[in-house]
Amino acid sequence: MRIAEIYQSLQGEGRLTGSESVFVRTASCNLRCWFCDSPYTSWNPTGKDLSVNEVLERTFSFDCEQVVVTGGEPMLSAELIPLCEALDQAGKFVTVETAGTLFLPIKCNLMSISPKFFSSAPSPTNESSWHQRHEQTRHAPEVIRDLISCHDYQVKFVINSKEDCFTVENYLTEFPEIERERVMMMPQGTEPVGLKKIRDWLEPYCSSHSLTFCPRKQIDWFGLVRET
Ligand code: SF4
Repeated sequence: MRIAEIYQSLQGEGRLTGSESVFVRTASCNLRCWFCDSPYTSWNPTGKDLSVNEVLERTFSFDCEQVVVTGGEPMLSAELIPLCEALDQAGKFVTVETAGTLFLPIKCNLMSISPKFFSSAPSPTNESSWHQRHEQTRHAPEVIRDLISCHDYQVKFVINSKEDCFTVENYLTEFPEIERERVMMMPQGTEPVGLKKIRDWLEPYCSSHSLTFCPRKQIDWFGLVRET
C-alpha cells in the first residue's frame, strides 16, 4: 500500500482528541476537495509502496496503543483488510478515517467518517475533470449505511459556511440512522485566525442545534505541519 507517512502524535479531532496515536497515512484519494489539508495524499500524491508487514513493523516501533489509519482515502487499498486484522490481533485500538465513498470489510474500533458536500468540489473552471469526478464519487449512500451499521462510528462534517449547516440537516434527514450525538461539526481551515472566524458562529450554532462542535486542535498545537 502507498504510504505518505507514519508517525506518532496527538489525535487532534473527534471523540479521541488528545490521545497519543500512531498515524498511518495512506497516499492516495479518489476525491479532490479544494480545501484538502493533506494535498500530498490527493492533488500531489507522494509516498512509498510498503507491504503490510513493513507498515506493521514501522507502526509497532512506536509504543502506543492507539492507531489511526488515515489518508488520503485508506479504503482505496484492499491491504487495509489484513493491516487492520493484524493491528486488532496486536491489541491496538484502531480508528479508520474515511470520506465514506468506499466499503471494505475491515476490523476497527472506531470508523470516523467525513462525508464531503458539493461545496467541497474543486473549481469547475480550473479543475473541470476533477470537479466532475469528485461530484460523481463523493456521495455513496449505501456505503455510509454499511459503515455505520458495521462499526462504532462518528461523523465529522467540514463546515465552511452557514449553507453547509443546512446541507448537514438535509444529510441527516437522508440518513435518519445516523445518531445526532455522533455528529461533529468541524470548521474548515488550516490556520488559527480562519478557524476562529468560523468557530465564532459555528459553536453557538451547534449548541442551539444539539450538535457537537469539533475543534481542529492539531492546528492550535502544531500549525499545519506534516507528521503532527
Ligand atoms: S477526501 Fe480528504 S484527503 Fe481526499 S481530497 Fe478531500 S480532504 Fe483531501
